[in-house]
Amino acid sequence: MTRELHPDRPLVAGNWKMNGTPASARVLVAELVSRLADRPPAEVLILPPFTALEAVGAFLGGDPRVRLGAQNCHWEPKGAFTGEISAPMLESLCDYVLVGHSERRHLLGESDEVVRRKLGAVLEAGLLPILAVGETGAEREGGLTAEVVERQTRAGLEGLSPSQVALCTIAYEPVWAIGTGATATPEDATTAAELIHRVVAEMAGSAVVVRVLYGGSVTAANAASLVRARGVMGALVGGASLKAEEFAAIVAAAG
Ligand code: PEP
Repeated sequence: MTRELHPDRPLVAGNWKMNGTPASARVLVAELVSRLADRPPAEVLILPPFTALEAVGAFLGGDPRVRLGAQNCHWEPKGAFTGEISAPMLESLCDYVLVGHSERRHLLGESDEVVRRKLGAVLEAGLLPILAVGETGAEREGGLTAEVVERQTRAGLEGLSPSQVALCTIAYEPVWAIGTGATATPEDATTAAELIHRVVAEMAGSAVVVRVLYGGSVTAANAASLVRARGVMGALVGGASLKAEEFAAIVAAAG
């Protein structure tokens, strides 16, 4: 099944990380939808924990304003991988899967190669990947931002056909800005986004345009300048997505 993708519409995605039960997730999503406009200016995506996907999906009941994603998946479709969840297992529960989040790269040791295999598995299952890339604070201080962003983008997309690349969304998330309250400037976000667009054009042809999101301490107060910085088409939001009022305000700022 092919999932709908609107690359010319901003995407505001809320990564709930390892927070919430099915019951509390229902409460949060109920509060969120009550605060969304009838026609939000952005595609709204929430990424609850695996264990809450079904409950949130049932609550939404097909509400076209909010789509669902998973925060991770395994690269194999099935097998002896205790505790893991595969992309085909998510196929009936959500539309998007995030791969390469820095917490998985840096806290759980996921390599570029693992991220590439996961991204391939997401596409293979007919789901839409969001590839997260970004440099650490030390890499930034060492002047390696562009090198890291380019390497992670190339590695994540390696081997894909242009039509597969077109199904990807790429989130630029400087690791030093995640959960820290520090943000990149809109100019930094634009520089990284333009680099990502260049790499995508080199790999898949200039006709392929993907959405580049910015992520890293996005709040209602700073969203307007970051979510629509030049080259950027939305945001990946962590902490602030756990507050319905704040997340709804970020969505509103994407217009
Ligand atoms: C994230 O985890 O992807 C993220 C951007 O987190 P935060 O918004 O809390 O910095």
